[in-house]
Amino acid sequence: MGDSAALPRLVMASANPHKVAEIGLVMEGLAHLEPRPVDVPDVVEDGDTLEANARLKAVAVCEATGAAAVADDTGLEVDALGGAPGVHSARYAADGGTGAEGDAAANTARLLGELAGVPAGRRTARFRTVALVRHPDGTEVIATGTVEGHVIEEPAGDGGFGYDPVFVPVEGDGRTFAEMGDDKHAISHRGRAFRELARYLGRS
Ligand code: IMP
Repeated sequence: MGDSAALPRLVMASANPHKVAEIGLVMEGLAHLEPRPVDVPDVVEDGDTLEANARLKAVAVCEATGAAAVADDTGLEVDALGGAPGVHSARYAADGGTGAEGDAAANTARLLGELAGVPAGRRTARFRTVALVRHPDGTEVIATGTVEGHVIEEPAGDGGFGYDPVFVPVEGDGRTFAEMGDDKHAISHRGRAFRELARYLGRS
């Protein structure tokens, strides 16, 4: 690969190792990614949209470091639930998304409970990711990625994270994201958002 010193420097707002690894794969050769400094705290993600939350995270890191920052925010939109949990996906088990961050098992249990009795054909859903680069001068580059699928009734697989054990993508072979290992990255919402972001950055 080329000289990383010549690549644009981007500080990652996420400290989640799953996400850092996935973003690192997609952006390899396009940006010099740096981890979030340990002294930059998590921001409160209280925006009304995925884009607003991604911006909150990127601005916080950009202001703390003086460097361009990259952040993303993801939601699972379930059609039978009017798009819930959506922007509240991380905290779905806590007061419908307004409480403290729930753990993945609790969030998934709540989701399956809300969908109890909903037949297979009406359990359609998608993951949506908004990825955003914020530059110190206030300019931004924004990209979105989605993957369509459906929510199954019983969790399957122990890879991935979050809602992966109950999400089966349309483009797959019937396995959940949690059963797909690295195959997930080729079609995942986050992979798509960051590949699009990388294309935009490559053009600028
Ligand atoms: P975040 O904005 O990336 O932190 O995602 C918000 C919530 O959505 C997470 O807490 C997870 O519950 C869920 N989520 C995000 N990305 C994924 C994924 O790739 N698979 C499964 N769940 C995800």
